[in-house]
Amino acid sequence: MYGLFLDKKCNATGACSKCQANCCKSYLIALTSFDLRRIYKKTNSLDFFTTINADNFDTCLAQSFILFEKDAPKEYFLVLSRKKNGSCIFLGKDNLCAIYNERPIVCRIYPFRYRNEKILYKDKIKCPAEWEITPKIKEEFLKAHKMQLEELKSFGARCREWNANHSKTGNLELFLKFILQQPKNKKTNI
Ligand code: SF4
Ligand code: SF4
Repeated sequence: MYGLFLDKKCNATGACSKCQANCCKSYLIALTSFDLRRIYKKTNSLDFFTTINADNFDTCLAQSFILFEKDAPKEYFLVLSRKKNGSCIFLGKDNLCAIYNERPIVCRIYPFRYRNEKILYKDKIKCPAEWEITPKIKEEFLKAHKMQLEELKSFGARCREWNANHSKTGNLELFLKFILQQPKNKKTNI
């Protein structure tokens, strides 16, 4: 994920070079509409994601949306698909991310969290590395964190609009169209 710092020749560097991409083999990756569009633009396909019922997935790093089934509202998240062995669909045999430049926002901030204006090394369970928050990590994290807040806010507003006005008559296909038509993030042009 974030920690899979790649150099210009796409080699894992630093702490991640000693790990077998545990993060990409351990977690379900929630997507925002911007993640979806970034990856779609790169792969020209929408075969990389699936939905998961919110009863089975708890995250504050994405936004749920409602689809009606037999007149009952059900809450879902968009997540990256996984291979049969449980690893992320984009994890290569070399343990590197095949869409590194377009990877989802949650992958960009992993394994850190931002609390009280401090960057904390959060996930010591799956991530075996000894991280030191260097100026480079700090800079990249803060950039990704800011992008995450902006995109989550915008995607959240779009989901609320869908839930209020379209969910009763909509389906997943229409929801995807609805979020793919969302106005672009002016800074990233996605
Ligand atoms: S998208 Fe890339 S960085 Fe994120 S979990 Fe998948 S392989 Fe890892
Ligand atoms: S689990 Fe930690 S050390 Fe391993 S690839 Fe992910 S971020 Fe890097």
